[in-house]
Amino acid sequence: MSETRNRMTALPPGSTIGILGGGQLGRMLTLSAAELGLKCHIYSDVPGGACDVAAASTIGPFEDVDKIRAFAASVDVVTYEFENVPLAAAAAAETVAPVRPGPKALAVSQDRLEEKTFISALGIPVAPFAAIDSAASFDAAIRAVGETGILKTRRLGYDGKGQVRIKNAADLATGFESLKHAPSILEGLVPFTYEISVLVVRGVSGETRTYDIPLNTHKNGILDTSTVPSPLPANHAARATEIASAIADALDYVGVLSVEMFYLPDAAAPLVVNEIAPRVHNSGHWTMDACLVSQFANHIRAVAGWPLGPTDRHSDVTMTNLIGDDVNQWQVIAAEPNASLHLYGKPEARPGRKMGHVNRLTNRK
Ligand code: AMP
Repeated sequence: MSETRNRMTALPPGSTIGILGGGQLGRMLTLSAAELGLKCHIYSDVPGGACDVAAASTIGPFEDVDKIRAFAASVDVVTYEFENVPLAAAAAAETVAPVRPGPKALAVSQDRLEEKTFISALGIPVAPFAAIDSAASFDAAIRAVGETGILKTRRLGYDGKGQVRIKNAADLATGFESLKHAPSILEGLVPFTYEISVLVVRGVSGETRTYDIPLNTHKNGILDTSTVPSPLPANHAARATEIASAIADALDYVGVLSVEMFYLPDAAAPLVVNEIAPRVHNSGHWTMDACLVSQFANHIRAVAGWPLGPTDRHSDVTMTNLIGDDVNQWQVIAAEPNASLHLYGKPEARPGRKMGHVNRLTNRK
């Protein structure tokens, strides 16, 4: 269904939003939708998670386009909570309901080569990169990028998975072998001082709003903390915001888009985009407690064609992920003053699994 045809109609309370994906992001989207009087119908390949809090759920494979089409026919708009939704599923849904953000954002963000090509074509700095398809591409890639870098699979990598550090040409050969010769890219190592992300929400009218920019730290390749405010100087924060909005505009995006960036204060180009995610993002979970309207509520507003909500922040905050066994501290955290605990209801605390997060607030300085 054409986005233009649907552009002007805001879905009234009581309408149903279909969400492809049933993890914690879908769960928090569903809870926010409920606060606005909107229902959610989850399509997931596993029960539990978001399905536990939604008005309806369909369990099925994402490859079953007939089932996806039937799901889309039962809702007013379709969105998604993970970027690896098969393009065929999004395309099938789009034949019966508006899909927001549109499938272009999925196509670009699913493939690191397309993503980097798309972003650099907008004049926005990314790490030096080259495609690795076979041993024949090694020499040219090393000439373009240098010997020190990270080999990443083009598809299906997340939280540091599908990545190998490279120090020389021999590493590249063994690294490609360890990635089972999956189509990959070699990326130059960016000597960043710290990492940030910009969360931008874009409405159906094309209006964009951004949240304050968090400083992100990682442990074992997984986001550990997001702290706001970050020490990013105002002029660089303004540029980071501009970059994220330009990407959202170029994708004709509707919803929350997250743009992860490296910060190199003394470089000619101090902001280098690492990757984008066409969805609400872990580094925006602090908005649930420190902002008037959270990233989840704003994503719902955007895809439902509502006016966007204010992104203003009323408190300083650090969000800390509860990974694996960290969740066993729930009683201690629940008793902390100024801490807001969010648990995702997952039955088993496996290592590396995101079980919840805590937002620790202090007065805004
Ligand atoms: P990614 O899956 O691409 O987000 O990478 C996970 C983490 O690896 C990032 O958050 C960075 O800490 C690090 N990383 C990824 N790519 C690069 C790069 N080109 N240079 C330096 N560090 C990187």
